[in-house]
Amino acid sequence: MNATPLFYIIIAIIVIDFIVDKILDALNAKHYNDPIPEKLTDVYDQVEYQKSQDYKTTNYKFGLITSTFSLVLTLVFLGLDGFEFVDTIARSYSDHPIIIALIFFGIIMLGSDLINTPFSYYQTFVIEERFGFNKTTKATFIMDKFKGLLMMALIGGGLLALIVWFYDVTGTHFWLYAWALVAVFSIFTNMFYARLIVPIFNKQTPLEAGDLRDKISAYANSVGFNLDKIFIIDGSKRSTKANAYFSGFGSEKRVTLYDTLVNDLEDEEIVAVLAHEVGHYKKKHIIFNLIASLLLTGLTLFILSIFISNPLLSNALGVDIPSFHVGLIAFGLLYSPISELTGFVMNHFSRKFEYQADDYAKNTYKSEPLVSSLKKLSKNSLSNLTPHPAYVWVHYSHPTLLERVRNLRKN
Ligand SMILES: [Zn+2]
Repeated sequence: MNATPLFYIIIAIIVIDFIVDKILDALNAKHYNDPIPEKLTDVYDQVEYQKSQDYKTTNYKFGLITSTFSLVLTLVFLGLDGFEFVDTIARSYSDHPIIIALIFFGIIMLGSDLINTPFSYYQTFVIEERFGFNKTTKATFIMDKFKGLLMMALIGGGLLALIVWFYDVTGTHFWLYAWALVAVFSIFTNMFYARLIVPIFNKQTPLEAGDLRDKISAYANSVGFNLDKIFIIDGSKRSTKANAYFSGFGSEKRVTLYDTLVNDLEDEEIVAVLAHEVGHYKKKHIIFNLIASLLLTGLTLFILSIFISNPLLSNALGVDIPSFHVGLIAFGLLYSPISELTGFVMNHFSRKFEYQADDYAKNTYKSEPLVSSLKKLSKNSLSNLTPHPAYVWVHYSHPTLLERVRNLRKN
């Protein structure tokens, strides 16, 4: 290999990112055994608390092993000019840039998926199983993998092919066309996510008439929110962990409740969770996130267009023939500190929005049922009640349970 300065910069970025991540993990792990804040002492009893400590420690150790393994593998792959090897294979099948890019990414994606599968298998069938969360059967696990790969091939492959084609036809202006494509695609998936993507993996049924539906309708009417689409999803097919989310907009807007959530919570608590979700919609968080991510994508594509035709990018990965697809990988690695930074800023906004949605639920419904639902959900997923502030700052998209309870109970 003939290493260029850019190669060493890429290695440095990967290693520094790993070290920073491990420091944050270690800081967080040091606080696993902190005394539980007084406001939260009713979340766990002694046995459950011990179980949650074990769960956190097990996941911490497992994360340390997998991330170290993946770091070593990445460094070895880069050191041995792995990308040049894969590029040569792809070029042996075709000389069309789109076909080469598809084969190249196909091999990389399939390879990394094959390597990751034993780890996710262990996570699901050993760790989650041991703590009583896992409901996934082996058949579901295999089908999920298969469907995931197929979707990646069709959607990811389709988008990639179009973007490489834009680059071939329009040169550096490709970024504008790519941006328009990504924008149309993400608005479309946002809108029809529940109709098109969810049914591939789950069964959804409309919430049937009855007490719960009446209570939800009464709340929705009281805030002038037209909510006729409420669905129950069979989350229990995979895990006992519960969730609820909002998707779509306009006539496609709907709320989806996990069946596990409906089982774990009282009606009032479910309405409170729903009020929180309605808050996200009313406070325009969904539109904000969509626009912010479109602007970030545009910016990233624009910066990409400045550098992509520079052969230094491909050469940095030890690939002799410069190409769009190899340049894309090198750019992705070089850009990762910036995307970490934007992710960090987005997390900051997300935590702000969570408070606003909680406030909305408090002001238009009640705060206590939301407090008790958050506590139940934390208990049932064995959440960490004492995360380190630095870890929260970087990684958390939601405020901690303690912060949310404090906010909900303040006058
Ligand atoms: Zn929320």
